[in-house]
Amino acid sequence: MDQKTLVLVLSLLIALNAAILLLLHRLHRQMAGPSDWAMGATCIAAGAFLDLLNPIPFPEVAILLANWLVVAGYALLLVGMRDFCEQAPRPMLMLGIATACLLPLLGMRDIEADHAARSVLVSAIMGSFSVAIAATLEGRDGAAQRITAGVFSINAVVHFLYGAWVLTMPTEIEGIDAATVIDLFLLWTIGLTFATGAALTMMISESLRDELMRQASHDPLTDLLNRRGFDLIADKLFATRSRDMHPFSVMMIDLDHFKRVNDTHGHEIGDRVLVHVSRTLANHLRSEDVFARWGGEEFVVLMPNCAPNQAREAAQRLRAALALHPSDPRVTLSIGTASSDGEHSTLTELQRRADAALYQAKRQGRDRAVDASEHASTNLAVNS
Ligand code: GH3
Ligand code: MG
Ligand code: MG
Repeated sequence: MDQKTLVLVLSLLIALNAAILLLLHRLHRQMAGPSDWAMGATCIAAGAFLDLLNPIPFPEVAILLANWLVVAGYALLLVGMRDFCEQAPRPMLMLGIATACLLPLLGMRDIEADHAARSVLVSAIMGSFSVAIAATLEGRDGAAQRITAGVFSINAVVHFLYGAWVLTMPTEIEGIDAATVIDLFLLWTIGLTFATGAALTMMISESLRDELMRQASHDPLTDLLNRRGFDLIADKLFATRSRDMHPFSVMMIDLDHFKRVNDTHGHEIGDRVLVHVSRTLANHLRSEDVFARWGGEEFVVLMPNCAPNQAREAAQRLRAALALHPSDPRVTLSIGTASSDGEHSTLTELQRRADAALYQAKRQGRDRAVDASEHASTNLAVNS
């Protein structure tokens, strides 16, 4: 195979990947990652093109520049991956490391004699950056992220093996001559370019899907689950750990006379009160409790593995917490609780009973918690 043709195909493919990533960046500007990946791919493509231009003026400088572009491109791929994974991207540090790793090239300026040494060094650096990219994705959920980690891990192995082969430079391996090994290496990098482009595009699509799901299941004001998100999580919990859920309790919470807050202080202050209340309550719930904004100034809590007396205690704990950390203006809560009385209780039924208990709390004068089993007020005003 003609190696120049292979390198040309490779450069064109990488340039195409860069163009696609740039387009994706322009479509989803808020997403961290694609712009660095596009820049990284552009650098790698430019480095590969430069390598093709032969004969060229100042070949020593051209070789240095071509290698730097390729290595800097890998550094930028890592920067993008760190940014995508919500780690500090540190572009200057990564480019600095890439440049420092290339410093030995300054002593390998003989075009022919130092060719092998340069290949070993650059392969080792590309392999190391591939390891770092795969490690950045380590332990993250999502099929696309695992595929990308796999692609870069294999890429690292191939680059290390290629470097080791060049270092020992046997004229042939089990009947395969040197030119064929280089062809195979180039074919791998062409395959990798396809795989990387597909994997990164899948990661972008997966991330958009997750963001869409998040927005559809969360309330933008308080960032709590909304009704849809609450139902989704509750359904999943009952489907997967139905036994550990029992006995479970439900709490319906409503802010008292909240309309007055809006009427007196304005909607904006009303919004701030809602955020303050939601954060205060969230800080005083167990991590396994599912807390959501049911609508308007109403909240719901699903408490797995929570007996009736624990549910009543939790309701008083929330009221006490808000009394201790009051909003400005101060508001109080009315709460209705209900607990399962056997494995056959359903969430809908408990919510209905908790809602009825909440209605009782309102009727009895507000600022109190009522349990559905008693329909009696427990512990009157914390504030008063
Ligand atoms: P009660 O003690 O009987 O619950 O009286 P209330 O005034 O709290 O109840 P009502 O249902 O009459 O009013 C609820 C108010 O909550 C009316 C509505 O404007 C306000 N509200 C609902 N959602 C929001 C919101 O997102 N932001 C703000 N600022 N107000 C909201
Ligand atoms: Mg209210
Ligand atoms: Mg209400």
